[in-house]
Amino acid sequence: MFLKCESLQRMGAFKFRGAFNTIAQIPAETRRRGVVAFSSGNHAQAVALVARMHGVPAVIVMPSTAPPAKLDATRGYGAEVVFYDRAGEDRDAMALRLARERGLTLIPPFDHPDIVAGQGTAALELFEETGPLDALLVPCGGGGLLSGSAIAAQVMAPTCRVIGVEPEAGDDGNRSFASGRLERVEHADTIADGARTPSLGPLTFAVIRRHVSAMTVASDAELIAAMRFVWERMKLIVEPTGVLGLAALMAGRVHLRGRRVGVILSGGNVDLTRVREWMAG
Ligand SMILES: *Cc1c(COP(=O)(O)O)cnc(C)c1O
Repeated sequence: MFLKCESLQRMGAFKFRGAFNTIAQIPAETRRRGVVAFSSGNHAQAVALVARMHGVPAVIVMPSTAPPAKLDATRGYGAEVVFYDRAGEDRDAMALRLARERGLTLIPPFDHPDIVAGQGTAALELFEETGPLDALLVPCGGGGLLSGSAIAAQVMAPTCRVIGVEPEAGDDGNRSFASGRLERVEHADTIADGARTPSLGPLTFAVIRRHVSAMTVASDAELIAAMRFVWERMKLIVEPTGVLGLAALMAGRVHLRGRRVGVILSGGNVDLTRVREWMAG
C-alpha cells in the first residue's frame, strides 16, 4: 500500500494544488484585482495562501457560524473574511456580487477544469514514484480530487482501478454514479467535514462517470478507526475526510488483498477540540 500524504502539503491539504493552478493562470492584470471564494474549509485556506504568494487580495465568504480555528487560519494567511448569514443572502449570490463590485475572480472549489487539473497532480506524483498500481482510493466531496486523479491514472496507469470514497451519510456521488443522474444529499451528518458537499458538479460528474471504476463509502466509526491507526502507528496527523480511502480499505469495503494499492490521504487539518469525543470509544 502506498500513501500519498497530502496532510503534509502546504496549508495541510491537496487543495493548494487546484488553487495554485487556477490562480496562476489568471491574466496578471485581472489577478491584481484579487480573488474571492466561498468556503469555511481547506479551499478557503488554499485560496488565501496562494493569493498571498501572488501578492493579490483574497476575500473569503464564510458562514457566521464557521469554527474560530478555521476563521483564524484563513485570516492568518492574510485573507479578508466576509460573513454571510445562512438565513439571509445565499453565499453564491454574495460571492458573485463581491466579484462584480470589486472586480475579483471567483475561484470555484471543484467544478472547474483548472481546479481538476491541479488536484490531479497529487495522483500524478504518486504514480511517478510508485509506477503502475492496481487500484487507487481517493476521498470524494465535490469530486475535484477524484476526477483529477482519474485523469492522471488514465495517462500514467491505464489499468489502475480508481475508486472514489465518500462518507456514508453523504453518499450523493455513489447515488449519482449508480443512477447516472446528479443526485443530492443536503446537510450530511458526518465528521468528514471536507466531503459534506451536497453534490458533484456537472464537470466532475462527467469525468467520474467516464474514468472512475467504482464508488464506495466509509462510516464515521470506520473513519475514526482509520484515523487512530495512522495517528498511532504511522505518526501522521490526518483529518477525518483525509482517511476516507484508507478507512474503506481497512473496513473491507473494497477487496484488494495482495494488490498494489495507492491511497490518497487528502488532508491533515484537524479540529483538536473534537479529538476527545472521537477517540473516547
Ligand atoms: C475538499 C477535500 C476533499 C474533497 O475534495 P473534492 O475535490 O471536493 O472532492 C477531501 N479531503 C480533504 C481533506 C478536503 O479538504
